[in-house]
Amino acid sequence: MKRILFTSLILSILLASCAPALSGNWLTPSVPWWREAVFYEIFVRSFYDSDCDGIGDFNGITQKLDYIESLGVDAIWLMPIHPSPSYHGYDVINYYAVNSEYGSMDDFKTLLAEAHKRDIKIIIDLVINHTSTQHPWFQDANRSPDSAYRDWYVWSQTNPGNLWHTGNNGYYYGYFWGGMPDLNYNNPAVSAQMYKISQYWLGEIGVDGFRIDAAKHLIEADGKIENTPQTAEWFRGYYTSLKSDFPNAYTVGEIYGAGGLLAKQYEDQMDHIFNFELASGMVNSTAGGVNSGINSAYTFTLKEKPDGDYATFLTNHDQNRVMTVLGGNEQKAKLAATLLFTAPGTPFIYYGEEIGMQGQKPDEDIRLPMQWDATVNAGFACRQEQTWRAPHENYKQVNVARQTDDPDSLLNHYRALAGVRQAHPALQTGETTILETGNRAVFAMLRTLGDETILVIVNLGSAEVTDYELSGKSALWDGLYTATPLLGAEQAASLEIAGSAFSNYKPVETLMPQQSIILNITR
Ligand code: CA
Repeated sequence: MKRILFTSLILSILLASCAPALSGNWLTPSVPWWREAVFYEIFVRSFYDSDCDGIGDFNGITQKLDYIESLGVDAIWLMPIHPSPSYHGYDVINYYAVNSEYGSMDDFKTLLAEAHKRDIKIIIDLVINHTSTQHPWFQDANRSPDSAYRDWYVWSQTNPGNLWHTGNNGYYYGYFWGGMPDLNYNNPAVSAQMYKISQYWLGEIGVDGFRIDAAKHLIEADGKIENTPQTAEWFRGYYTSLKSDFPNAYTVGEIYGAGGLLAKQYEDQMDHIFNFELASGMVNSTAGGVNSGINSAYTFTLKEKPDGDYATFLTNHDQNRVMTVLGGNEQKAKLAATLLFTAPGTPFIYYGEEIGMQGQKPDEDIRLPMQWDATVNAGFACRQEQTWRAPHENYKQVNVARQTDDPDSLLNHYRALAGVRQAHPALQTGETTILETGNRAVFAMLRTLGDETILVIVNLGSAEVTDYELSGKSALWDGLYTATPLLGAEQAASLEIAGSAFSNYKPVETLMPQQSIILNITR
């Protein structure tokens, strides 16, 4: 007896001493940092101009780290930071340097150090599929078929047509446009070079990972231009090496249009891919006011990838801003944010989304200067004259300063959601169960981890709803449970579980238009 007591005492001491290394609920095994993180995507040129030249820069981001931290953000994704002839930077001319318009390498290192002091990680865009035509490799390759760099790109003596471009002594392949020639990853020298670039940024500079641009287009083969077995094999090798050298480095791939099926297909090749299927489900259902879009997106995603191990977002730098898609409706924007922060996966906020910035294509207009306040140039730049592009005309109404102290603002809704997510690991890595709601305007789900159960219920519609009832299966023991609102309601009715299921449950009598409620279900 004594011996058993002693053993269990030792065991509890051991467990207690391990506890800090474990996440959230300490009975849950520790997960990689990115699974509990909230990310913030920044277009450097548009975030904050520290030196009055009308262009956002690294020092500007450093100056705004307190703001970024106040959002509850754990990590930042910087869109391309390398020298480039384009304003967006997705055609690189030197992978080992930073764009001088954004500052010096020392400025970048300061940003990295200041972010790390706040426990904020930084990943950068790795534009892996192609370079600029102005990159020295391509300049050399294009000079002559005898160039040592000729095989770093993809050439044809005859013109195969679409996606091929006229070069010197032949045609080169460029999926996106003539200014972006595709690198040839069938050439081991290119693969080795890209690995060296990755080692440089992770090992010498100290970034925390990469967002891998246009990953699905890496290797064309047998007439297929995306998601080929050859691309999978390449990333498998890259990822294995990367994880062996830098186990804490995070990679998230842009597989444009992907959902659960491709998330599963890529799971041994990168930590995450972005779930575009779930993004459009969330945005379309919020815009349309019915649950069919989000329900079907979850059905497909959960079937293939029930663990939620992918990255989520509403809209990114390639899409019309979510607030524009939602017609400028702030209630809808809050609802979409609730769906994002309660979804399985790692959420990414696109800068300015948290204050409801608007923008629709062309691309420059979905990447406009951040709207900090109502002063000239939206407070983005000190310069009185031109910024690289004028801010959106609504900046006097829509800006950070105006929303900071308003408890009902969209900005403070984002902060509250990040706080709830941080405090409840079930929302981060818990299982997801979609519920029947008996009303097509109502969406509801359970998120469960260990003994924590969170219920999310939203009214997608613009009318009050009383005729709804939630039902579904639950792993909870039979009995009566208290539903404590974490967000969006004053109180909620208790929940009865019988036969590992519940039915006819109405946490509140009336759901107001676009109301979203997050409930903590406890004994
Ligand atoms: Ca500047």
